[in-house]
Amino acid sequence: MIKITFPDNSVKEFNKGITGLDIAKSISNGLAKEVLAVSVNNETRDVNRPINEDARIKLHKFDDTEGKHAFWHSSAHLMAEALEQIYPGIKFGIGPAIENGFYYDVDPGDGVQITDSDLPAIENKMRELARQKETFVRKEISKNDVLELFKKKGDEYKVELINELEDGQITIYEQGNFTDLCKGPHLSDTSHIKAIKLLSIAGAYWRGDENRKQLTRIYGITFPKQKMLDEYLLMLEEAKARDHRKIGKELELFMFSPRVGQGLPLWLPKGAQLRERLENFLKKVQVQYGYEPVLTPHIGQKELYVTSGHYEKYGKDSFQPIKTPAEGEEFLLKPMNCPHHCEIYNSKPHSYKDLPVRYAEFGTVYRYEQSGELHGLTRVRGFTQDDAHIFCRPDQLKEEFIKVIDIIHYIFKTLDFSDFTTQVSLRDPYDKEKYIGSDENWEKAEKAIIEATREKGLDAVIEYGEAAFYGPKLDFMVRDAIGRKWQLGTIQVDYNLPERFDLEYTGSDDQKHRPVMIHRAPFGSMERFIAVLIEHTAGKFPLWLTPDQVIILPISEKYHDYAEKVLKFLNNSDIRTLIDKRNEKIGKKIRDNELKHIPYLLIVGENEQESNTVSVRKQGEGDKGPMKQEEFVDFIKKVIRV
Ligand SMILES: [Zn+2]
Ligand SMILES: [Zn+2]
Repeated sequence: MIKITFPDNSVKEFNKGITGLDIAKSISNGLAKEVLAVSVNNETRDVNRPINEDARIKLHKFDDTEGKHAFWHSSAHLMAEALEQIYPGIKFGIGPAIENGFYYDVDPGDGVQITDSDLPAIENKMRELARQKETFVRKEISKNDVLELFKKKGDEYKVELINELEDGQITIYEQGNFTDLCKGPHLSDTSHIKAIKLLSIAGAYWRGDENRKQLTRIYGITFPKQKMLDEYLLMLEEAKARDHRKIGKELELFMFSPRVGQGLPLWLPKGAQLRERLENFLKKVQVQYGYEPVLTPHIGQKELYVTSGHYEKYGKDSFQPIKTPAEGEEFLLKPMNCPHHCEIYNSKPHSYKDLPVRYAEFGTVYRYEQSGELHGLTRVRGFTQDDAHIFCRPDQLKEEFIKVIDIIHYIFKTLDFSDFTTQVSLRDPYDKEKYIGSDENWEKAEKAIIEATREKGLDAVIEYGEAAFYGPKLDFMVRDAIGRKWQLGTIQVDYNLPERFDLEYTGSDDQKHRPVMIHRAPFGSMERFIAVLIEHTAGKFPLWLTPDQVIILPISEKYHDYAEKVLKFLNNSDIRTLIDKRNEKIGKKIRDNELKHIPYLLIVGENEQESNTVSVRKQGEGDKGPMKQEEFVDFIKKVIRV
């Protein structure tokens, strides 16, 4: 018998060799139908693979990342099987599951092209094969045998991959007549895959190397239910309309210039002002919570990042050091603000009474991303973090967490992200050696985070083994208006940097102690946050944030003088106002400006001029009637107040 421990810590005994699927069946048939993968001591495996030792397990359904991963990776294999039947001799590169769906890079052979118009036929073949309920069979295989297999098949890409693998750890998966080199895990069989959509085709260089052959990448997505696919496709349509790159252009917020460089956003006046308003909003909150602003340069000596460990992490795979004319000097574009802040902490001695110290900076950092990975404002090479580092005593951790949670709550509320979830990432209790910091400190910190989330009423998901090696953390994920999840704020405990920078404070015992460091960024980065905000609001920002709050529409040229007077009055009251002086009919002016997402339209003509009023229209809602100028200012100020 073996002991199986479930996520709720309950333990049951089973016969050695039991599978995840059998365990699911022992709980309920409904569960068995839905379970797609199983984590066995933190390793995700096939549900039909025998478990031979005592284990902590978690059964994954489609809702879990692990379940989706197995589902979509199996779908990639299913697509490959379909392709092989339609295009005999086709060769395969790699075919992973991705965040939404899967792809496979394929080489259909000389003279053969797969285009969008071929996708429906491939989908049909996939449906036919899925219905046959083909079992995914896992086989451990020697390097020689697997090489033989793929050489015989003529699959040069797989042969190249196999040559880099170590003998003794190689597995293949078979379903129907299709065999793939693969680590797994996979579904029990293809019949789970009920709804299939192949989305697009792109070119992709083999191994991302532009000197090598360009393969055909086919993207697809699948679901266990047709309804889920329908909803997903609808969401994609909606997402297209809200794409921050499109809206950012329409609203003149930001741009990219190939001359300046890929992944380096240029903020246009309206975007820069919007961003500044967001920064000021957060700065105001942070002052209330005892943060002190600091400013640090965009580069630092290479040695600084060797000390912090960031050189090891970012050095080789990111921007290379900048050399000066004087020999021996090397600087790195700042990949993180933390080392600079540690040096500021170290600039003077600290007593336990001075803690916590909270340094905040909108710090711009630079990290190299491959050009294929860049995406609008969400994946860039230079970005500004709303960064802060809190240096506190271990006994202050919980209180500090509560305060940061309060700030994040306030931000989400003000910016209308009402739907969010949280995750606490803790150590892997079975592999404590891989974490830095004392056992006692870890236990304290983990307890502090969990208590803080409970006190703040957060229903946080607790994930074991997801902590960074240097400390546990709390992440916030928001769900946007069309149901997509975005990772935003993070609160991260760090025992590593205080050690590396030899940070100290004098305790009440007159001895030296290490402070705990907390990294926190409620927005994450300004770039990414604004991208998410654009897509969440479809460009209809809250009134206090929006670039232009009001536009005055004179009925004809005769009323331009009066419109100017209103403009001056509103601008003097700090309301961002424009005038549309085009020689157009008022109906057209209204229609055009409605499209620009300007929240309030003020129509002025004969009546308004005589009575010193404006006729108010709310974007998307229509006529709100006339108001005295002062009355309108009072009204709008009430709406703006945050
Ligand atoms: Zn695979
Ligand atoms: Zn940091």
